[in-house]
Amino acid sequence: MGDRIGVAVLGATGSIGASALQVLRLQGDRFKVVSLTAWNQIGALSRLVNEFSPALVAAAPESAEDAGLDSPPEFQADYYVGGDEGLVAAATHPDVHTVIAGVSGAAGLQSTLAAVRAGKRVLLANKEPLVMCGHLLRDAAAESGACLLPIDSEHNAIFQCLPLEVQRDVAAGRGIRAGPGRSGVSRIALTASGGPFLRTTASGIAKATPNEALAHPTWNMGPKISVDSATLMNKGLELIEACTLFGLDESQVEVVIHPQSVLHSVVYFSDGSLIGQMGSPDMRVPITHGLAYPDRMPSGVAGIDLTEIGQLQFELPDLERFPSLKLARQAAKEGRSAPIVLNAANEVAVQAFLEGRIGFGFIPEIVDRSLERHDPREITELVQVIGIDRETRIVADDIIRGILH
Ligand code: NDP
Ligand code: MG
Repeated sequence: MGDRIGVAVLGATGSIGASALQVLRLQGDRFKVVSLTAWNQIGALSRLVNEFSPALVAAAPESAEDAGLDSPPEFQADYYVGGDEGLVAAATHPDVHTVIAGVSGAAGLQSTLAAVRAGKRVLLANKEPLVMCGHLLRDAAAESGACLLPIDSEHNAIFQCLPLEVQRDVAAGRGIRAGPGRSGVSRIALTASGGPFLRTTASGIAKATPNEALAHPTWNMGPKISVDSATLMNKGLELIEACTLFGLDESQVEVVIHPQSVLHSVVYFSDGSLIGQMGSPDMRVPITHGLAYPDRMPSGVAGIDLTEIGQLQFELPDLERFPSLKLARQAAKEGRSAPIVLNAANEVAVQAFLEGRIGFGFIPEIVDRSLERHDPREITELVQVIGIDRETRIVADDIIRGILH
């Protein structure tokens, strides 16, 4: 490998994976792809394996078998490990220094946690594990010496706006508050594009089709996060992500609609200063920041032209038309196991919507009713997280069956 930095790309066949691999191609003399994971897209994974020759690949056991590609020679990799075990092996491979956590949803929990426990630099795109149990990930980082770097664009923006010693605390899992108390951070604002239904009436939103929900105005992303952006649940998940990652209280995190999507979030300081980070809405920018941190290197993305943008607009989100955001704030306030329930019920509802089983308007209703049926509990261990996630999926399925009858 020479001096090149070993990288694991978890979710290599997804949108984050594609952006990460574009940067890794551009920076091929500095980084080496050690492991790649996919799930169902075996053909796409095979092409990546041929291009990058990783030491380890992983995918869903059944899809690899279906494609007749489950043996190491087919993949031309030193070895292939199937399923969740494969994802964990990819994340913890001894030659891996940096892990790009780009799996979608709660499915990325075990591999993200394994990467943190193994003391890797972990570039966190996959927000759902942070929503479910961010405090466990932070504790694990504090113990292992892992480096947590947010690459969800808003959280990466906030991270970039923090003083260097506060960045170090956040990366080490200590959050903002645990520093010397002089960070001066009073609150933050997460910006949101507003999604495809920003100007759509409530009745129009209720009737939205999957194709309409997937047509995001400024970002090109995977299906689950695209639907979350349409309901504004994505911003709700990001609110919880910000609270857990930075150690902030829910009351310190604002959400502001900013349709141009060039100001990626801001930090307010106690002296009245506000610092924000701007850039094109392209995930290669935060990914490159995380890969090169604390240095900088080219991402392949051109800088923005201020006069071309001309105007920046900001407005408050409409919580009546976008109840998912309100539910997420309630879950953030409630804390404990409530965010696990919010996340799992939302994943089930979004899947049902994408499969055409329920209308768009039912997504927040399923989340709301799942939260109502749950008594929040303190979370101290991973098994509890997995247990509540599973229980909630059964409850949410049950609610959907009730809606369909
Ligand atoms: P995609 O749906 O495009 O990609 C998901 C990836 O995860 C694919 O490689 C997929 O494999 C793999 N995958 C799916 N299910 C499983 C499973 N059960 N086990 C293991 N791997 C699985 O998602 P995105 O790239 O859009 O998003 C990934 C994460 O990053 C999400 O948490 C999202 O919220 C976050 N994020 C994404 C942004 C974006 O711009 N896309 C921006 C900020 C955050 P396969 O396709 O082979 O089945
Ligand atoms: Mg984001």
